[in-house]
Amino acid sequence: TREWQLAARPHGEPTPDDFRLVELERPDPADGQIVVRMLVMSVDPYMRGRMNAGKSYAARWEIGETMKGGAVGRVIASRSPDVPEGALVLADAAWRDVAVLDAAHVRVLPELPGIPPSYHLGVLGMPGLTAWVGLFRLAEFRAGDAVFVSGAAGAVGSLVGQFARLKGASAVVGSAGTPEKVRWLTEEVGFTRAFDYHDGPVADLLTAAAPDGIDVYFDNVGGEHLEAAIGAFKEFGRAALCGAISGYNATEPVPGPRNMFLMVSKKLSLRGFIVGDHADLRGEFIEQVPPLLTSGQLVVRETVREGLDDAVPAFLDLLRGGNTGKMVVRLAQE
Ligand code: NDP
Repeated sequence: TREWQLAARPHGEPTPDDFRLVELERPDPADGQIVVRMLVMSVDPYMRGRMNAGKSYAARWEIGETMKGGAVGRVIASRSPDVPEGALVLADAAWRDVAVLDAAHVRVLPELPGIPPSYHLGVLGMPGLTAWVGLFRLAEFRAGDAVFVSGAAGAVGSLVGQFARLKGASAVVGSAGTPEKVRWLTEEVGFTRAFDYHDGPVADLLTAAAPDGIDVYFDNVGGEHLEAAIGAFKEFGRAALCGAISGYNATEPVPGPRNMFLMVSKKLSLRGFIVGDHADLRGEFIEQVPPLLTSGQLVVRETVREGLDDAVPAFLDLLRGGNTGKMVVRLAQE
């Protein structure tokens, strides 16, 4: 078995030296355990937090221990009556090619014709549910709302915009980091307007893209984007604070929005959330999203890297915007 371990805690932007790939003897499965060959693993922004010594919402990775993250794999041996050989499973278990796991810690996935296993790490998985929960529960989206989403060309953001459009948004505006992403959002994904946040002050770009203001902001980025959204809100505007990736590599506390008094005068609500606390919405999510996919109403794109060796470059690229849609690493072909 080969696996990635954390070699050092980064100061600022992580580098390849913070990780090491090791080869280990694979233990035999005990009673209640299964052996899983990983097909595809996820790299996600929250993993940056797992590299730090401090407390984050996901358990930190220890130096010298296996790094773990979402992955989908095929059971190649089983000593559990609940999870048979051949089952497709989701586990918080890769960065590694093969894992011996407790059957109780995996979720058996349905085999959906025409749906690649990687979709369980994106549109049908944690990022998809995050988009759903943030938009519908936290931001209390309703038909007719004008919506702004940052990180719009990413896994979560591209779905937020599409869920909003499909549920009757009056306008969906997105921001992203390259002209190609902006083009993809407006020409293929169905955003009303989009802009590259490198093209000027975000507040000016947002005013130009949403001159009548916004009702809902889905924040993936924080910092200047959040301040701009507060400025652009109409009365009773609502934000779901999902992430703040512009500050994940910061070595000093990042400045807050300077226009917080607008929270009072415009009677805004800004609500942070962690998707894991909203598992009760998984039922409606799993009922409603697969049909949107199979009927072709959702545009889904992935950035796929090949092989366990490429997992670290994929993760470092994700933090720098090297992905459009969900970033995944394919570990084996079926
Ligand atoms: P993405 O697929 O959106 O990938 C991350 C993207 O962030 C990059 O593609 C890059 O795109 C963008 N980015 C990087 N640096 C900056 C910057 N300085 N300013 C603006 N954008 C930047 O990742 P996910 O969809 O998986 O996650 C999106 C956000 O949601 C993250 O903040 C993540 O932490 C959060 N999240 C929160 C969850 C929760 O439960 N609260 C659950 C899942 C995700 P670009 O080229 O546009 O810069």
